[in-house]
Amino acid sequence: MIVSGAIEQRVDAAVDAWLRWVPGWTPGTHRGRARLCRRCTGSPMLAAAGLTSDVPHQVTHALVSRMQRIIDRRVDEFTEQQLPMLHAELTGEQMWRAGGYDPAAGLDPEYEGLDPDPDPADGEQPFLFTLAGLAEESRSEPLLPRPPLSADEKRQLRREVELADRCAEEAGRAVCFALMAHRSRIESAVRRFVEPQIRAMLDELSRNLEPPQ
Ligand SMILES: [Zn+2]
Repeated sequence: MIVSGAIEQRVDAAVDAWLRWVPGWTPGTHRGRARLCRRCTGSPMLAAAGLTSDVPHQVTHALVSRMQRIIDRRVDEFTEQQLPMLHAELTGEQMWRAGGYDPAAGLDPEYEGLDPDPDPADGEQPFLFTLAGLAEESRSEPLLPRPPLSADEKRQLRREVELADRCAEEAGRAVCFALMAHRSRIESAVRRFVEPQIRAMLDELSRNLEPPQ
């Protein structure tokens, strides 16, 4: 059910986009994150890409999010074409949300999947309002109550959710497989653009730690 050629092409394009993004990365580009990232931690995509734990999270996250978009898009396409009940449920949900403010909509891949309201770091001012709070306030109520699903419809919906999960797994595997072909390009970008900045930061740190003469 997966068109693996299409996934491969999308991975090629997404890796190209990430390679264009990496040279502009600096350690201060994004705010530091203390929490563990659910999307990156233990992701088989990072192993496939050859990105080890020494690589800063912002750099890995930017790649993983781009790959996740490919998987999500594949599942969306499959749902639209093959899973009529789930598709109807999801489009109903979208209409229900329409008009509300979704803090996760339209983010750059570097920010996708991150908590939109990280805890303020030490010495930082806490936010006056949170994006999640704003989303809560602006969420519109459904116009009409939905008719309840019959037992048959529920069964079919569960079956379609399983198929969508399976599609996501297959797409994930195809993405990992395609990523392996780009490992050397990814590793050399990290060596060239990321590692020197990390070394400079560490040098700076150790200079500051030296006792005054
Ligand atoms: Zn991450």
